[in-house]
Amino acid sequence: MSPTRRTTVCALLAAAVLALVTPAGAQEQVLNLYSARHYPTDEALYANFTKATGIRINRVEADDAGIMARLKAEGAASPADVIFLVDAARLWRGEQEGLFQPVKSALLDQRIPAQLHGTDAGQGALWYGITTRARIVVYDKARIKALDVDTYDKLAAPGLKGELCIRSGSHPYNLSLFGSVLEHLGPQRTEAWLAGLVANLARSPKGGDTDQIRSVAAGECGVAVTNSYYLARLLRSKTPADREVVEKVGFVFPDQSGRGTHVNISGVAVARHAKHRDAAVKFLEYLVGDDAQRMLADGNNEYPAVPGVRIDNPALAAFGPFKAETVPIAKVGANTAQVQQMLDRVGFK
Ligand code: FE
Repeated sequence: MSPTRRTTVCALLAAAVLALVTPAGAQEQVLNLYSARHYPTDEALYANFTKATGIRINRVEADDAGIMARLKAEGAASPADVIFLVDAARLWRGEQEGLFQPVKSALLDQRIPAQLHGTDAGQGALWYGITTRARIVVYDKARIKALDVDTYDKLAAPGLKGELCIRSGSHPYNLSLFGSVLEHLGPQRTEAWLAGLVANLARSPKGGDTDQIRSVAAGECGVAVTNSYYLARLLRSKTPADREVVEKVGFVFPDQSGRGTHVNISGVAVARHAKHRDAAVKFLEYLVGDDAQRMLADGNNEYPAVPGVRIDNPALAAFGPFKAETVPIAKVGANTAQVQQMLDRVGFK
Protein backbone atom coordinates (compact mmCIF):
# COMPACT_ATOMS: atom_id res chain seq x y z
CA MET A 1 0.00 0.00 0.00
CA SER A 2 1.42 3.36 -1.00
CA PRO A 3 1.78 5.95 1.77
CA THR A 4 -0.88 8.11 0.13
CA ARG A 5 -3.28 5.24 -0.10
CA ARG A 6 -2.61 4.28 3.52
CA THR A 7 -3.38 7.87 4.59
CA THR A 8 -6.66 7.76 2.70
CA VAL A 9 -7.67 4.49 4.32
CA CYS A 10 -6.73 5.85 7.74
CA ALA A 11 -8.82 8.95 7.10
CA LEU A 12 -11.77 6.83 6.05
CA LEU A 13 -11.41 4.66 9.15
CA ALA A 14 -11.23 7.74 11.36
CA ALA A 15 -14.37 9.10 9.73
CA ALA A 16 -16.15 5.78 10.29
CA VAL A 17 -15.16 5.74 13.97
CA LEU A 18 -16.35 9.32 14.34
CA ALA A 19 -19.65 8.42 12.72
CA LEU A 20 -20.03 5.60 15.27
CA VAL A 21 -19.41 7.79 18.32
CA THR A 22 -21.45 10.72 17.02
CA PRO A 23 -25.09 9.66 17.19
CA ALA A 24 -27.03 10.28 14.00
CA GLY A 25 -28.73 13.66 14.14
CA ALA A 26 -26.50 15.00 16.93
CA GLN A 27 -25.77 18.60 16.11
CA GLU A 28 -22.67 20.61 16.50
CA GLN A 29 -23.15 23.12 19.32
CA VAL A 30 -23.71 26.61 18.01
CA LEU A 31 -24.57 30.03 19.33
CA ASN A 32 -26.21 32.71 17.21
CA LEU A 33 -24.99 36.15 18.16
CA TYR A 34 -26.56 39.38 16.93
CA SER A 35 -23.95 42.05 17.55
CA ALA A 36 -23.82 45.81 17.18
CA ARG A 37 -20.19 45.84 18.31
CA HIS A 38 -17.51 45.30 15.73
CA TYR A 39 -13.86 45.71 16.67
CA PRO A 40 -10.59 44.17 15.56
CA THR A 41 -10.28 42.21 18.83
CA ASP A 42 -13.63 40.44 18.26
CA GLU A 43 -12.13 37.54 16.27
CA ALA A 44 -9.86 36.46 19.12
CA LEU A 45 -12.63 37.04 21.66
CA TYR A 46 -15.00 34.66 19.88
CA ALA A 47 -12.32 32.14 18.85
CA ASN A 48 -11.27 31.74 22.50
CA PHE A 49 -14.86 30.96 23.50
CA THR A 50 -15.11 28.27 20.82
CA LYS A 51 -11.75 26.85 21.90
CA ALA A 52 -12.85 26.66 25.54
CA THR A 53 -16.37 25.28 24.99
CA GLY A 54 -16.54 23.74 21.51
CA ILE A 55 -19.50 26.02 20.78
CA ARG A 56 -19.27 27.68 17.38
CA ILE A 57 -20.47 31.26 17.10
CA ASN A 58 -22.50 32.44 14.12
CA ARG A 59 -22.49 36.18 13.94
CA VAL A 60 -25.04 38.55 12.51
CA GLU A 61 -23.56 42.02 12.52
CA ALA A 62 -25.58 45.17 12.05
CA ASP A 63 -26.03 48.47 13.81
CA ASP A 64 -28.30 48.65 16.85
CA ALA A 65 -31.36 49.77 14.90
CA GLY A 66 -30.83 47.03 12.30
CA ILE A 67 -30.60 44.35 14.97
CA MET A 68 -33.74 45.53 16.75
CA ALA A 69 -35.70 45.67 13.48
CA ARG A 70 -34.52 42.18 12.53
CA LEU A 71 -35.45 40.70 15.93
CA LYS A 72 -38.92 42.21 15.73
CA ALA A 73 -39.46 40.96 12.20
CA GLU A 74 -38.30 37.44 13.06
CA GLY A 75 -40.45 37.16 16.18
CA ALA A 76 -40.61 33.72 17.80
CA ALA A 77 -38.82 32.18 14.80
CA SER A 78 -35.70 34.26 15.46
CA PRO A 79 -32.50 32.21 15.58
CA ALA A 80 -30.85 34.83 17.82
CA ASP A 81 -29.47 33.52 21.12
CA VAL A 82 -27.43 36.47 22.39
CA ILE A 83 -27.87 40.15 21.58
CA PHE A 84 -25.06 42.64 21.96
CA LEU A 85 -26.08 46.32 21.96
CA VAL A 86 -24.42 49.58 22.90
CA ASP A 87 -26.04 52.07 25.25
CA ALA A 88 -28.53 51.71 28.10
CA ALA A 89 -31.20 53.62 26.16
CA ARG A 90 -31.17 50.98 23.42
CA LEU A 91 -31.06 48.05 25.84
CA TRP A 92 -34.01 49.50 27.69
CA ARG A 93 -35.89 49.83 24.39
CA GLY A 94 -35.17 46.16 23.65
CA GLU A 95 -36.43 45.25 27.10
CA GLN A 96 -39.64 47.24 26.53
CA GLU A 97 -40.20 45.51 23.21
CA GLY A 98 -39.95 42.11 24.89
CA LEU A 99 -36.86 41.02 22.96
CA PHE A 100 -34.96 39.58 25.96
CA GLN A 101 -35.41 36.95 28.65
CA PRO A 102 -34.11 37.14 32.23
CA VAL A 103 -30.88 35.37 33.16
CA LYS A 104 -30.07 34.12 36.62
CA SER A 105 -26.37 33.42 37.04
CA ALA A 106 -24.40 33.53 40.26
CA LEU A 107 -21.25 34.28 38.26
CA LEU A 108 -22.76 37.27 36.43
CA ASP A 109 -24.21 38.58 39.69
CA GLN A 110 -20.88 38.27 41.39
CA ARG A 111 -18.76 39.76 38.58
CA ILE A 112 -20.96 42.59 37.24
CA PRO A 113 -21.85 45.29 39.79
CA ALA A 114 -25.60 45.49 40.45
CA GLN A 115 -25.54 49.10 39.20
CA LEU A 116 -24.81 47.76 35.68
CA HIS A 117 -27.64 45.19 35.60
CA GLY A 118 -30.76 45.70 33.52
CA THR A 119 -34.22 45.46 35.06
CA ASP A 120 -34.62 42.48 37.36
CA ALA A 121 -38.18 41.48 38.27
CA GLY A 122 -36.95 38.66 40.51
CA GLN A 123 -36.00 36.11 37.85
CA GLY A 124 -32.62 37.59 37.01
CA ALA A 125 -31.62 40.66 35.01
CA LEU A 126 -32.85 41.17 31.44
CA TRP A 127 -29.43 42.46 30.35
CA TYR A 128 -25.96 43.08 31.70
CA GLY A 129 -23.46 45.89 31.13
CA ILE A 130 -20.25 44.36 29.87
CA THR A 131 -18.05 47.43 29.28
CA THR A 132 -18.40 51.03 30.44
CA ARG A 133 -17.69 54.40 28.84
CA ALA A 134 -17.82 57.87 30.37
CA ARG A 135 -19.67 60.81 28.79
CA ILE A 136 -17.09 63.57 29.10
CA VAL A 137 -16.55 67.20 28.17
CA VAL A 138 -13.90 68.55 25.80
CA TYR A 139 -13.11 72.25 25.51
CA ASP A 140 -11.02 74.69 23.53
CA LYS A 141 -7.93 75.27 25.66
CA ALA A 142 -7.34 78.64 23.95
CA ARG A 143 -10.49 80.31 25.24
CA ILE A 144 -12.32 78.18 27.84
CA LYS A 145 -11.18 77.32 31.34
CA ALA A 146 -11.66 73.77 32.67
CA LEU A 147 -13.18 75.29 35.80
CA ASP A 148 -16.05 76.72 33.70
CA VAL A 149 -17.03 73.34 32.23
CA ASP A 150 -16.27 70.86 35.01
CA THR A 151 -19.88 69.92 35.78
CA TYR A 152 -22.80 69.00 33.50
CA ASP A 153 -24.76 71.83 35.17
CA LYS A 154 -22.26 74.43 33.97
CA LEU A 155 -22.85 73.49 30.32
CA ALA A 156 -26.19 75.31 30.66
CA ALA A 157 -24.71 78.42 32.31
CA PRO A 158 -25.40 81.75 30.46
CA GLY A 159 -21.65 82.39 30.17
CA LEU A 160 -21.38 79.62 27.57
CA LYS A 161 -23.92 81.12 25.17
CA GLY A 162 -23.14 80.06 21.60
CA GLU A 163 -20.31 77.76 22.71
CA LEU A 164 -21.83 74.26 22.96
CA CYS A 165 -21.49 71.55 20.30
CA ILE A 166 -23.37 68.31 20.88
CA ARG A 167 -24.90 65.58 18.71
CA SER A 168 -28.67 65.15 18.48
CA GLY A 169 -30.46 65.25 21.82
CA SER A 170 -32.42 62.12 20.85
CA HIS A 171 -29.31 60.07 20.17
CA PRO A 172 -29.15 57.19 22.72
CA TYR A 173 -25.85 58.51 24.18
CA ASN A 174 -27.53 61.81 25.05
CA LEU A 175 -30.86 60.24 26.06
CA SER A 176 -28.93 58.19 28.62
CA LEU A 177 -26.89 61.15 29.87
CA PHE A 178 -30.08 63.19 30.28
CA GLY A 179 -31.80 60.17 31.88
CA SER A 180 -29.06 60.16 34.49
CA VAL A 181 -29.40 63.92 35.03
CA LEU A 182 -33.15 63.38 35.54
CA GLU A 183 -32.35 60.87 38.26
CA HIS A 184 -30.10 63.43 40.01
CA LEU A 185 -32.06 66.66 39.51
CA GLY A 186 -35.70 65.65 39.13
CA PRO A 187 -37.98 66.68 36.23
CA GLN A 188 -38.24 70.46 36.75
CA ARG A 189 -34.55 71.18 37.08
CA THR A 190 -33.67 68.73 34.31
CA GLU A 191 -36.01 70.39 31.82
CA ALA A 192 -34.66 73.84 32.75
CA TRP A 193 -31.12 72.51 32.30
CA LEU A 194 -31.99 71.07 28.87
CA ALA A 195 -33.46 74.44 27.84
CA GLY A 196 -30.18 76.00 28.99
CA LEU A 197 -28.21 73.62 26.76
CA VAL A 198 -30.38 74.57 23.77
CA ALA A 199 -29.79 78.26 24.53
CA ASN A 200 -26.02 77.66 24.53
CA LEU A 201 -25.81 75.73 21.24
CA ALA A 202 -23.15 76.96 18.83
CA ARG A 203 -25.11 75.34 16.00
CA SER A 204 -28.00 72.98 15.40
CA PRO A 205 -26.97 69.47 16.59
CA LYS A 206 -25.34 67.39 13.85
CA GLY A 207 -22.71 64.68 13.39
CA GLY A 208 -21.29 62.13 15.80
CA ASP A 209 -19.18 62.60 18.91
CA THR A 210 -15.87 62.76 17.02
CA ASP A 211 -17.30 65.56 14.86
CA GLN A 212 -18.00 67.57 18.02
CA ILE A 213 -14.38 67.18 19.19
CA ARG A 214 -13.10 68.25 15.77
CA SER A 215 -15.42 71.27 15.83
CA VAL A 216 -13.93 72.39 19.13
CA ALA A 217 -10.42 72.09 17.68
CA ALA A 218 -11.58 74.05 14.61
CA GLY A 219 -12.82 76.89 16.84
CA GLU A 220 -16.46 76.42 15.88
CA CYS A 221 -17.43 75.85 19.50
CA GLY A 222 -15.78 76.25 22.87
CA VAL A 223 -17.09 73.10 24.51
CA ALA A 224 -18.53 69.74 23.45
CA VAL A 225 -19.78 66.45 24.86
CA THR A 226 -18.38 63.07 23.81
CA ASN A 227 -18.06 59.47 24.90
CA SER A 228 -14.61 58.88 26.34
CA TYR A 229 -13.54 56.29 23.75
CA TYR A 230 -13.86 58.75 20.83
CA LEU A 231 -11.36 61.06 22.49
CA ALA A 232 -9.22 58.04 23.43
CA ARG A 233 -9.17 56.99 19.77
CA LEU A 234 -7.91 60.45 18.78
CA LEU A 235 -5.34 60.41 21.60
CA ARG A 236 -3.96 57.14 20.20
CA SER A 237 -4.09 58.21 16.57
CA LYS A 238 -0.86 58.88 14.72
CA THR A 239 -2.30 60.91 11.84
CA PRO A 240 -1.10 64.55 11.88
CA ALA A 241 -4.65 65.93 11.62
CA ASP A 242 -5.71 64.01 14.74
CA ARG A 243 -2.54 65.05 16.59
CA GLU A 244 -3.45 68.66 15.87
CA VAL A 245 -6.97 68.18 17.23
CA VAL A 246 -5.65 66.57 20.41
CA GLU A 247 -3.21 69.45 20.94
CA LYS A 248 -6.00 72.01 20.94
CA VAL A 249 -8.59 70.40 23.20
CA GLY A 250 -8.66 69.88 26.92
CA PHE A 251 -10.92 67.31 28.57
CA VAL A 252 -12.85 67.10 31.83
CA PHE A 253 -14.57 64.20 33.56
CA PRO A 254 -17.53 66.21 34.90
CA ASP A 255 -18.77 66.36 38.50
CA GLN A 256 -15.69 64.92 40.17
CA SER A 257 -16.37 66.76 43.41
CA GLY A 258 -20.08 65.91 43.30
CA ARG A 259 -22.17 63.07 41.92
CA GLY A 260 -19.52 61.72 39.52
CA THR A 261 -19.29 61.44 35.74
CA HIS A 262 -22.11 59.77 33.81
CA VAL A 263 -21.13 56.26 32.78
CA ASN A 264 -22.91 54.24 30.12
CA ILE A 265 -22.48 50.65 28.95
CA SER A 266 -22.35 48.25 26.10
CA GLY A 267 -24.35 45.24 27.16
CA VAL A 268 -25.60 41.76 26.40
CA ALA A 269 -28.91 39.95 26.73
CA VAL A 270 -30.24 36.48 26.04
CA ALA A 271 -32.84 36.63 23.28
CA ARG A 272 -36.46 36.00 24.27
CA HIS A 273 -36.75 33.06 21.83
CA ALA A 274 -33.18 31.70 22.16
CA LYS A 275 -32.93 28.13 20.87
CA HIS A 276 -29.55 27.59 22.59
CA ARG A 277 -30.18 29.05 26.00
CA ASP A 278 -27.49 27.13 27.89
CA ALA A 279 -24.86 28.12 25.34
CA ALA A 280 -26.07 31.71 25.57
CA VAL A 281 -25.65 31.84 29.35
CA LYS A 282 -22.24 30.19 29.00
CA PHE A 283 -21.26 32.92 26.55
CA LEU A 284 -22.37 35.70 28.89
CA GLU A 285 -20.38 34.07 31.68
CA TYR A 286 -17.36 33.84 29.38
CA LEU A 287 -17.60 37.59 28.68
CA VAL A 288 -17.11 38.46 32.35
CA GLY A 289 -13.83 36.52 32.60
CA ASP A 290 -10.65 38.59 33.01
CA ASP A 291 -9.30 37.91 29.50
CA ALA A 292 -12.58 38.59 27.71
CA GLN A 293 -13.08 41.76 29.75
CA ARG A 294 -9.65 43.00 28.71
CA MET A 295 -10.30 42.26 25.04
CA LEU A 296 -13.73 43.88 25.10
CA ALA A 297 -12.53 47.02 26.83
CA ASP A 298 -9.25 47.49 25.02
CA GLY A 299 -10.82 46.86 21.61
CA ASN A 300 -12.77 50.10 21.95
CA ASN A 301 -10.77 52.01 24.58
CA GLU A 302 -13.50 51.37 27.13
CA TYR A 303 -13.43 50.28 30.76
CA PRO A 304 -14.03 46.70 31.89
CA ALA A 305 -17.40 46.35 33.64
CA VAL A 306 -15.87 43.88 36.10
CA PRO A 307 -14.16 45.77 38.94
CA GLY A 308 -10.48 45.12 39.43
CA VAL A 309 -9.70 43.99 35.86
CA ARG A 310 -6.69 46.01 34.75
CA ILE A 311 -6.05 46.95 31.16
CA ASP A 312 -2.90 48.37 29.73
CA ASN A 313 -4.25 51.19 27.54
CA PRO A 314 -2.27 54.42 27.04
CA ALA A 315 -5.35 56.61 26.44
CA LEU A 316 -7.11 55.40 29.57
CA ALA A 317 -3.86 55.89 31.48
CA ALA A 318 -3.81 59.51 30.20
CA PHE A 319 -7.40 59.98 31.42
CA GLY A 320 -6.40 58.76 34.88
CA PRO A 321 -8.78 57.44 37.53
CA PHE A 322 -12.13 59.19 37.92
CA LYS A 323 -15.24 59.15 40.06
CA ALA A 324 -18.23 57.59 38.28
CA GLU A 325 -21.86 58.22 39.18
CA THR A 326 -23.65 55.47 41.08
CA VAL A 327 -27.11 55.69 39.47
CA PRO A 328 -28.38 52.23 38.45
CA ILE A 329 -28.09 52.00 34.67
CA ALA A 330 -31.55 50.36 34.46
CA LYS A 331 -33.01 53.58 35.91
CA VAL A 332 -31.10 55.67 33.38
CA GLY A 333 -32.62 53.56 30.59
CA ALA A 334 -36.11 53.76 32.02
CA ASN A 335 -35.87 57.58 32.29
CA THR A 336 -35.19 58.04 28.59
CA ALA A 337 -38.86 58.03 27.53
CA GLN A 338 -39.60 60.96 29.85
CA VAL A 339 -36.43 62.72 28.64
CA GLN A 340 -37.59 62.48 25.03
CA GLN A 341 -40.79 64.36 25.93
CA MET A 342 -38.71 67.11 27.58
CA LEU A 343 -36.48 67.37 24.51
CA ASP A 344 -39.55 67.87 22.33
CA ARG A 345 -40.83 70.60 24.65
CA VAL A 346 -37.55 72.56 24.82
CA GLY A 347 -36.86 72.11 21.09
CA PHE A 348 -33.66 70.05 21.47
CA LYS A 349 -33.42 68.41 18.06
FE1 FE B 1 -20.14 55.02 19.81
